[in-house]
Amino acid sequence: MTDVFGDLPGQDAVVAQLRRAVGAASALLAGQRPEPGAMTHAWLFTGPPGSGRSVAARAFAAALLCPSGGCGQCASCHQVLAGTHADLLLIRPEGLSYGVKQTRDLVLRAAGKPTGGRWQVVLFEDADRCTEQAANALLKAIEEPAPRTVWLLCAPSAEDLVPTIRSRCRVVTLVVPASSAVAKVLIERDGIEPARALAAARAAQGHVGRARRLAVDPAAARRWADVLRVPLSVTSLGPALAAAAALVRTAEEEAKAVTEELDEPERESLRRAFGEGSTGKGVAKAMRGMAGAMKDLEDRQKSRATRVKRDTLDQALLELALFYRDILMVQLGAEVELANSEAELRKVASASSPEGTLRRLQAIMRCRERLTLNVAPLLAVEEMTLSLAEG
Ligand SMILES: [Zn+2]
Repeated sequence: MTDVFGDLPGQDAVVAQLRRAVGAASALLAGQRPEPGAMTHAWLFTGPPGSGRSVAARAFAAALLCPSGGCGQCASCHQVLAGTHADLLLIRPEGLSYGVKQTRDLVLRAAGKPTGGRWQVVLFEDADRCTEQAANALLKAIEEPAPRTVWLLCAPSAEDLVPTIRSRCRVVTLVVPASSAVAKVLIERDGIEPARALAAARAAQGHVGRARRLAVDPAAARRWADVLRVPLSVTSLGPALAAAAALVRTAEEEAKAVTEELDEPERESLRRAFGEGSTGKGVAKAMRGMAGAMKDLEDRQKSRATRVKRDTLDQALLELALFYRDILMVQLGAEVELANSEAELRKVASASSPEGTLRRLQAIMRCRERLTLNVAPLLAVEEMTLSLAEG
């Protein structure tokens, strides 16, 4: 039986730190003397994408709110993990950044008392997406914390936040977990066959959710296969353009699958909250309220879909870059763990030079940069595959 910290492979130091904090927090609530310095009211979770920043923050929130320190079994733990706990304010950016109004509302709510008598936890995912004004509103709240409020911010690195906020948070740094640690979770918890689990863990470079998706989701597996076909297939103009089209299309399909999986349960729970299907007094009024809430939800889902689409294509480009990095390692004879199958790598490695591989890596990085500048995806990716074909 695992508790709420069971989903953080390879993060033993972080888990130990958080457990100490949970112990100190419980002591505080019980009026006992806590371990000095173990608990504080503002935390910043950092680490590369997929290392589990928000998983760690969510687990910590569950442990703080659970009467048994994060058992993973009780109603409180389930509510935190499902994001429905009354003392958990779960904040995600509307659109691509947090606005000042959204942050002010949050700061007001965070000043309240916990309903469950333990803590009020504010979990701010992607805190680096705060606008400057929003960051100022947030800073005030963190400077003058309500006694029972705990702030959990997540960002890729501490440098992504303004120094004034950063300096008031305890920084928790997650590391990239070893492929073997990620594979172990896939094997033990998801029942995935060992060879496939290890291949997926390596390709995902320590990104746990990504590794799981590669191992179990056919759309992700298809996209992965498409990426790996690119280096072998881009030999001239025609195949390069075809590879670009395939890459963009499968990334979009995967993003769509990911988005749909998230969207429908959200719409469903909103309909349930408004009591759809019931009859009697006040139903017509409730239905009108639901239409407004549904519109809000759909707007949020739409901007999330845009973000997922961008992230999925970027992920494909990173996998491609990883393939060429492996090629370079093979060409230079370096002794490192390779993410891709060595037989495939040797074929490409023997047909090109290290200089050519470096140029290709640069073309991939240029493409990623162009996508952040909102160049049409197909255009940017075509330009890249043409550079790959030239060598
Ligand atoms: Zn519990």
